[in-house]
Amino acid sequence: SDTLHIIGGGMAGSEAAWQAAQAGVPVVLHEMRPKVATFAHQSGDFAEMVCSNSFRSDDDERNAVGLLHWEMRAAGGLIMGTADRHSLPAGGALAVDREAFSQAVTAALRSHPLISFADEEITELPTSGHWIIATGPLTSGALADSIRTTTGAESLAFFDAIAPIVYAETIDMDIAWRQSRYDKGETEEERTAYINCPMTKAEYEAFIDALLAAEKTEFHAGETAGYFDGCLPIEVMAERGRETLRHGPMKPVGLTNAHKPEEKAYAVVQLRRDNALGTLYNIVGFQTKMKYGAQTSVFKMIPGLQNASFARLGGIHRNTFINSPTLLDDQMRLKLRPNLRFAGQITGVEGYVESAAMGLLAGRMAAAEIKGGCLPPPAPETAMGSLVNHITGGAEAKSFQPMNVNFGLFPPLEEARGGRKGRKDRYKGYTDRAKELFTHWLAAQG
Ligand code: FAD
Repeated sequence: SDTLHIIGGGMAGSEAAWQAAQAGVPVVLHEMRPKVATFAHQSGDFAEMVCSNSFRSDDDERNAVGLLHWEMRAAGGLIMGTADRHSLPAGGALAVDREAFSQAVTAALRSHPLISFADEEITELPTSGHWIIATGPLTSGALADSIRTTTGAESLAFFDAIAPIVYAETIDMDIAWRQSRYDKGETEEERTAYINCPMTKAEYEAFIDALLAAEKTEFHAGETAGYFDGCLPIEVMAERGRETLRHGPMKPVGLTNAHKPEEKAYAVVQLRRDNALGTLYNIVGFQTKMKYGAQTSVFKMIPGLQNASFARLGGIHRNTFINSPTLLDDQMRLKLRPNLRFAGQITGVEGYVESAAMGLLAGRMAAAEIKGGCLPPPAPETAMGSLVNHITGGAEAKSFQPMNVNFGLFPPLEEARGGRKGRKDRYKGYTDRAKELFTHWLAAQG
């Protein structure tokens, strides 16, 4: 049939429903709330903001999430349009009156002539028809089990155990060096796949003290039930014994400091490449429940990271998400069952805006397909394109963790376009390039 079914009326599902309906395709939106609750949602409204009331920076010239706002507005996005109408003063950020916002999204969807509603929990992956699965980080247990049965156990995660991610260019390579443990690997690229930061005994002891003293966040009640299975935060490892980390993720064996070959490091922090471009590196094994402010100061104690800037900080949260780089094609379809698309946080993007953006794209792609066409993704130089490119192919599948939009996901600027000017100009270079390409992408859809 020519109907599009969407499971989940959150950030992604609401935007997908709107985009498809605006393209003339009939939509059925299946939402389990308020009949079935999650531990975070409070209402039965669509697009409920479960925590902060902010869509983050609205600077579309120098900030990647601000650029994503711009692209979504240009594409007639429901989430951004409604946010603009219910915004609150918040400096450079786009914050909203959360209740008025969700109620307005709900009203817009309910009054659209092409959208109808099924108030139900979907407990199994559908086998026929056109579907978008946008059930979010708190996907219900029955559906999560069905996804896991279909895709394989390793392909579905229930927790983000997020290691912090560093911009490669901010690592001090006069202190750090590239080497894989025991020089393992077939190629030169593999033998130098890691960046290593050495610590003396004094530096290690000071680091452990700071880790133990740092402020931590707690799990929500019910958040760990039945799932949390020992991806231990580094501070918990340190609590178990001051030497635990030195025998775990910070062990110094099989590594020789390229700058001081005669000196044996007491401990070594390793960073692993996080994207194909090599612009982002994650700190291996460093998932943590430290508060964000504490993380920045503790991690800057690591020699080589004293000036590091972070694309994202670490964390451990309940979060259901699939291994998109292995499971999805560039149309966001499940390769195993191409009648199913995934959108939103469950695809491994992170944040309200990113989730809504993936809904926008999935809704448009599904509508194009139902009408007999095919919509290619936007160029990877755009914010939306960089995200979909990251989740469907650019990210390392093995260490795949949910990702916010950031300029590290964008192909670097050519020198001629201002590659090595100051930071600010460079970001403007990224956003100018993105706006031009996104405008072309929209225009090509008529
Ligand atoms: P959701 O908005 O969660 O929507 C999914 C919808 O699917 C829900 O309405 C749910 O009821 C429904 N559903 C689930 N299973 C089924 C089923 N089987 N059948 C039918 N319906 C189903 N991001 C930020 O940017 N800022 C924050 O402050 C923030 N805080 C967060 C706090 C928590 C506790 C969590 C879990 C996440 C947070 N996030 C935050 C991350 C994320 O961006 C949001 O969760 C965002 O809402 C994700 O959008 P989504 O559409 O993918 O999922």
